[in-house]
Amino acid sequence: MAGGIEIKTPEQVRAMRRAGLVVANTLAAVRDAATAGVTTAELDGLARDELARAGATSSFLHYGGGWGVPPFPAVTCISVNDEIVHGIPGSRVLADGDLVSVDFGAIVDGWHGDSAISFSIGEARADDVRLSDVTRTSMWRGIAAARIGGRVGDISAAVEGYVRSRRERYGIVREFTGHGIGSQMHQAPDVPNHGRRGRGPLLVEGVCLAVEPMLTLGGEGTATQDDGWTIVTRDRSRACHWEHTMALTKHGLWVLTAQDGGEAELTALGATFGPLAD
Ligand code: MG
Ligand code: MG
Repeated sequence: MAGGIEIKTPEQVRAMRRAGLVVANTLAAVRDAATAGVTTAELDGLARDELARAGATSSFLHYGGGWGVPPFPAVTCISVNDEIVHGIPGSRVLADGDLVSVDFGAIVDGWHGDSAISFSIGEARADDVRLSDVTRTSMWRGIAAARIGGRVGDISAAVEGYVRSRRERYGIVREFTGHGIGSQMHQAPDVPNHGRRGRGPLLVEGVCLAVEPMLTLGGEGTATQDDGWTIVTRDRSRACHWEHTMALTKHGLWVLTAQDGGEAELTALGATFGPLAD
């Protein structure tokens, strides 16, 4: 531990890579199956099957709860249109034009991976396509800003700076943030999507973080639905969420939940792709 942050050994980072690949493969399978007419519960069932096949367990199932809110009942969070995060899969039937985010976490040998993707069902609205592109790119800009000797605020500032540089205006959700990840899904430090370079906890070799911008086509305000979990935009504008788990290795950055480890995106951004050998 350093400053309350769990520092992983190279062997532990490799275990997290195994969890990350289960997450990447499962999200790809869910994405392929998500078409108009499919329910969100069916997608969750597919993710459960993928977990079982991989011999992994869920980071999300039975998570949290208390104060009258039941623990989370599914292995995915599926959030549609004005839902930002933590949507509970169920009988909702996906329809043409829906903007869907799927968030998924897996545990392998006690180590977690956490990632989220967003996509449209069928014919996408043009403003949803832009929203998802900006959210996804802001995530990659944030990841690419991380380096040994830097600060968590470098990531936050890169996310926020990219979003603010766009001609269109987007809400950046403040009430939920990225986070440290490792032997638990949610650890120190918080990784906000707003911030200033050079501020916040120091980044050292062995730090693993989930970077997860949540943007809206409207304001930043959120509200919780009666189920106690689903977070929606207060102004009912549409929202988008992308997330990857990354590690700082002695060689550079390794995006544990990306199938290619982040090589293509990091290289394009001029960041150092730094996987560990098996
Ligand atoms: Mg997540
Ligand atoms: Mg997360």
